[in-house]
Amino acid sequence: MNILGIDFEEWYHPELVKPFIKNDKKDLKISKGINKILDWLNKRETFATFFVVGELIEKEPTLFDKIISEGHEIAFHTMNHNRLDDEGFKEKFEEELEQFDKLTSGKSKGFRAPTFSLNKNTSWVIDHLIKKKYVYDSSIVPAKTKMYGIPEAPISPYRISSENIAKENKNSALIEFPLLRTKFFGKKIPAGGGFFLRFLPLKTITNEVKSYQKMNIPATFYIHSWELVPELMPSLPLPIVNKFVTYYKLKKALPKMDKLLEKFDFTSFERYLKIE
Ligand SMILES: [Zn+2]
Repeated sequence: MNILGIDFEEWYHPELVKPFIKNDKKDLKISKGINKILDWLNKRETFATFFVVGELIEKEPTLFDKIISEGHEIAFHTMNHNRLDDEGFKEKFEEELEQFDKLTSGKSKGFRAPTFSLNKNTSWVIDHLIKKKYVYDSSIVPAKTKMYGIPEAPISPYRISSENIAKENKNSALIEFPLLRTKFFGKKIPAGGGFFLRFLPLKTITNEVKSYQKMNIPATFYIHSWELVPELMPSLPLPIVNKFVTYYKLKKALPKMDKLLEKFDFTSFERYLKIE
């Protein structure tokens, strides 16, 4: 069994887009794609975890009901898609957890840091999650990219603690689900979603899922809401690298993920952990 997380966020949330958008331009577009996403999961008889940016439920409370009523899971992706190391965010985090809890009737048990910004400087987040009785986190990519990655971290789920995020701590109450990674020309690179799902040949990804299966490790995937409804993603004037990473083969993400759902079994984190 493998795990599917959908990072449910607006077109203006990604780190490569956010700094270029003025506040008064931030209207909701992607949220309107929720029915298409739910229909797709329904067709594939797959449950998923929606890591939702809290402000979207604040603006559109029906999102919560729609996701939950179809048996999917709601988890936390911060209130406004902040990096954990954004200035002043550490002081705000506890309050945000509280806020999200209220918005989601205490249903959230899992967390994903925007842009996988959990690293040794931001490991304080783990203690907050444990204090709030969160069960799991999925913010570690055991590979190296320009923006994130902890290449020395385990590839199978492990108990994570704030002292050393790359090492199992059997006494910790929080389970970490690292994202799928592969080796490409000898380098450890992400394979479980986002740009890498669009960039890598599908064969490379399916072979990696099979090799995880042989090791009895769940392949943990992520996909962005704006990759599932690319027709709602506006074409933005961004610096060239940002534009490339955001839009490269954007329309290929859904058909590729769809093939993976057809070939392998996926479920939400809570169902995988049997805590729903
Ligand atoms: Zn995100």
